[in-house]
Amino acid sequence: MSHKFCPDCGSPCESQIPEGDHKPRSVCTACGHIHYVNPNMVVGCIVEAGGDLLLAKRDIEPALGRWTFPAGYLECGESCADGAARETMEETEARVESLGLFALLDIPHIAQVYGVYRARLIGEHFAPTPESSEVKLVSIDEIPWDKLAFPSVATALRLYAEDRASGTIRTHTGIVEWSGEGSRFDLANYRLREHRAH
Ligand SMILES: [Zn+2]
Repeated sequence: MSHKFCPDCGSPCESQIPEGDHKPRSVCTACGHIHYVNPNMVVGCIVEAGGDLLLAKRDIEPALGRWTFPAGYLECGESCADGAARETMEETEARVESLGLFALLDIPHIAQVYGVYRARLIGEHFAPTPESSEVKLVSIDEIPWDKLAFPSVATALRLYAEDRASGTIRTHTGIVEWSGEGSRFDLANYRLREHRAH
């Protein structure tokens, strides 16, 4: 995760620790610009309609053919809640009203942070899109646990299902990480460390 060439002037970059810093950075050998690389923010919505929630079957890589709630990278200039609603529209054509933050999940090993919002479906429309081959409402009991797209998605849905079962929806924070055993491609081998519920 470093720049080989300067995005500003095109000259080669080299790795060095800038004065007063503590980590190697990509520094341009010509213009001196320091190119910091920071985690990406992913935002998404658990969309509620009655007692059901909206899931989409991914028609794009990675995790093509697997199920997720709508989510994607936050764009510059938008709020997390607005980005989550935009991703929901792009992936499912659903219009939503945000009900607030549900989970903020750190995924340090892939340098991502997931902001998962709860939202209410406005109207009844949703449909497949270029990003989703299938979009449907499912009950908590119908969540396809063995066909989910990512550990972050599985973790958020597990917390949501637990909250729904207990009757109290809370806001969660924690770190999603591989347990250290078994396949990294098996979502069952991930755990939520430093989980807090508020
Ligand atoms: Zn440069």
